[in-house]
Amino acid sequence: MIPLERIHPTNSLLIRFNGSFVLYWMQASVRSSCNHALEYALEQAALLNQPLLVFFGLTPNYPEANARMYRFLLEGLSAVQTGLQARDIPFQLEMCDPPTRVLELSQQASMLVTDRGYLRLARAWRSRVAEQITCPMLEVESEAVVPLGAVSNKQEYAARTLRPKIHKLLGRFVLPLTARAYTPQPLTIELPTSLDLSDLDTLMARLEVDPSVPAVTTFLGGELEARKHLNLFLEQGLAHYAEGRGGPLARVSNLSPYLHYGHLSPLEVVLSLQEFPESDAKAAFLEELIVRRELSFNFCWFNPNYDSFEAALPNWAKLTLQQHADDPRAHLYTLTQLESAQTHDPYWNAAQLEMVKTGKMSNYMRMYWGKKVLEWTPSPQIAWDILIYMNNKYELDGRDPNSFTGIAWCFGNHDRPWTRRAIFGTVRYMNAAGLERKFDMKAYLKKVNDL
Ligand SMILES: Cc1cc2nc3c(=O)[nH]c(=O)nc-3n(C[C@H](O)[C@H](O)[C@H](O)COP(=O)(O)OP(=O)(O)OC[C@H]3O[C@@H](n4cnc5c(N)ncnc54)[C@H](O)[C@@H]3O)c2cc1C
Repeated sequence: MIPLERIHPTNSLLIRFNGSFVLYWMQASVRSSCNHALEYALEQAALLNQPLLVFFGLTPNYPEANARMYRFLLEGLSAVQTGLQARDIPFQLEMCDPPTRVLELSQQASMLVTDRGYLRLARAWRSRVAEQITCPMLEVESEAVVPLGAVSNKQEYAARTLRPKIHKLLGRFVLPLTARAYTPQPLTIELPTSLDLSDLDTLMARLEVDPSVPAVTTFLGGELEARKHLNLFLEQGLAHYAEGRGGPLARVSNLSPYLHYGHLSPLEVVLSLQEFPESDAKAAFLEELIVRRELSFNFCWFNPNYDSFEAALPNWAKLTLQQHADDPRAHLYTLTQLESAQTHDPYWNAAQLEMVKTGKMSNYMRMYWGKKVLEWTPSPQIAWDILIYMNNKYELDGRDPNSFTGIAWCFGNHDRPWTRRAIFGTVRYMNAAGLERKFDMKAYLKKVNDL
C-alpha cells in the first residue's frame, strides 16, 4: 500500500474504463525499483486488469542541460530499461516535447500516473498536462522520505523548525516498498520504435546537446552505479561520517547526483541504514539526507521564486547585503576569471576545478566557494547570478532544489545574523584561515591537482 499522503490527484475526472492501458509518465524518479509512482501505477493496472506503459519523454532542449547531464540521464534510462525488462514491464522512450506527447498518449489511457517534481519547470510541465488531460492524473511523491504536504503547509524558517515535524512522521513513512509482480498483457496502442539505449554515443550525437561541458567518468549514471556508491559508503564512509563531516576530504556518500536524477530512492538509503546501530555518524548523515534535503524541497515548493535574489532571501539578509553592496572589494573577478579558476586563492581555484573536472565539488568547499563569490563580485545580485549559473552548468547534482537552497544559504537563507562586517553585513562570513585551521588543505590541493 502506498501511503495516501504520497498520492496527489490533479483532477477529479473518473477513470476512463474504455482506456486500454495505465500510463506512467516517468520524470523525477528515473528508476525501476523503490519507486512509489511506478508501484502505484502497477497497482492501478492490476485493479483495472490492464497493461501498464512506462513512458519517458526526452527533450533535447532541457534548460541548462549539457552533454554532462544528458549522458548521466541516458545512463540512468538505460538502467531503467534493463530493470523494467527484468520485471516484464514495457518501457517507451521518445524524443519529443514531453507534455505534448503525454497528452497524446493519455487519450487512449484509462489514467495517468506521474511522479512529483519541486522546481518550476517540472511543475509547469505537470500543470500543463493536468489542465488539458481528459482522464484522471495523479502525482505520486517518491523523492521525499516524508511527503512534503504531510510535514508542513508553509515555507519553513530553518532546519530547526522543520526537523521536529519530520522526525515525528518518520515512523509513518519509512516503510519498505514491496515490488509488485506484473503480469504482462498486450498493449494495443501503436507506438513508434523506442529510442535505442544500447549505443549511448550515437544517441548523444543524435540529440545534438550542448557539448561545452563534457561527460565525466567519475560518476556514471544508473541504479546499479548508485547502489555501488551507497554500499561503498556504508562499508567505508558511514562510520567516519560525523568526524570527517564537512571537510573537503571527508568520506561522503557521493549520492547527490543519483538522488538528483532519481536513480536512487532516498527511502532505500534510509532503509539500508536501519541495520546499522545508532551512532552520531548515522544521525548526522540522516540529518543531511532527510532534514536538509527536504528543507530544500520545502523552500522551493513554497517559494516558487527560489532562484530570484529579490524573492528568495529573508528580509534581514537582503537588507544587510544591500546596505553593504557598495563596500569596497579587495578583489573583483569577472565570470570568465571565476569560471576558469583564476583567482588569487588556491583553495577556491581548487574547488572550482574539482567541480569543472569531476562534476561534484566537496560539500564544505561549496560553502566557501559561494561566500567568496559574494565577496569578490561587484554586487550580491551579480554574485547570486554567477553562482547559480556555474553550479547548474557544472555540478552533476545541479538544477536541484538543493542547488538553489545551498546558494541561498550563502546569502543568509535558513541561517541567522552573525557579527557585522564589510560586504557581508550580518550574513555569515568564511575565510581561508578557517579552512587551514580545520582541515588538511594541502592534501585537498594535491587531490585536485592529481585529477
Ligand atoms: C553553494 C552550495 C551549492 C550546493 N549545490 C548543491 C547542488 O547543486 N545539488 C545538491 O544536491 N546539493 C547541493 N548542495 C548541498 C550539499 O553540498 C550537497 O548535497 C552535498 O555536498 C552532496 O554530496 P554527497 O552526496 O556526497 O553528500 P553527503 O554528505 O553524503 O550527504 C548525503 C545526502 O544528503 C543531502 N545533503 C547533504 N548536505 C546537504 C545540504 N547542505 N543541503 C541539502 N542536502 C544535503 C544530499 O542529498 C546528499 O546527497 C550545495 C551546497 C552549497 C553550500
